[in-house]
Amino acid sequence: MAEEQRDPREVRGAGGGTRGVRAEEVDAWGELVDTARRTVTDGLVVGTSGNVSVRVGDTVLVTPSGVPYDRLAPGDVTGVDLEGRQVLGTLVPTSELPMHLAVYRSTDARAVVHTHAVHATAVSTLVPELPTIHYMTSALGGPVRVAPYATYGTDELAENMLHALADRSACLLQNHGTIAYGASLSQAFDRTAQLEWMCHLWLTARAVPGLTPHLLTEEQLAEVGERLRGYGQRA
Ligand SMILES: [Zn+2]
Repeated sequence: MAEEQRDPREVRGAGGGTRGVRAEEVDAWGELVDTARRTVTDGLVVGTSGNVSVRVGDTVLVTPSGVPYDRLAPGDVTGVDLEGRQVLGTLVPTSELPMHLAVYRSTDARAVVHTHAVHATAVSTLVPELPTIHYMTSALGGPVRVAPYATYGTDELAENMLHALADRSACLLQNHGTIAYGASLSQAFDRTAQLEWMCHLWLTARAVPGLTPHLLTEEQLAEVGERLRGYGQRA
């Protein structure tokens, strides 16, 4: 099944890739497009300002640069190898490819979501780390760091991001946005939504005049981390 080849003529722009699209990649692409659209409908992304990727074997399917998600079609499958060489499609991959590839090369991530979500981006301009305002901090591996600013699309930004992601599944990018990864597109999406929600929460709490939000201690977060490891449905 994994090796099943589609007729390349079914795949718009397949001439630019080096091979046909496999059945599992067609499915993963559908899921990727759904996730990308959800970042817009859930208010995490405006226009084409974010990007989404999913790893299938050693191929990374990724949203193309500058194409509105509602116009992405099944035949627009865009894929690169872990070195960034295009193997599927002719549309130009997202300019944030270096960040996505850096995550796949250094973690066990199967999916990555990057957004310019407004509250998260606001927080990225204020602090070097999101204050521990909520116990869901532990669900992202601990206090969420802010990667120092670098120009979008550069290796420098990817490097700053990797440092901020150490032992975490998400981080903020200074004056830029969010990045989160997971074992699936839905997990990477959910982590992004949780991060944006926590940033919104902290901004809301700290905006109350004359009062300072209570923050959780390292010990309190560690205890939650233990609990979360046993949380939810078995996969
Ligand atoms: Zn961006």
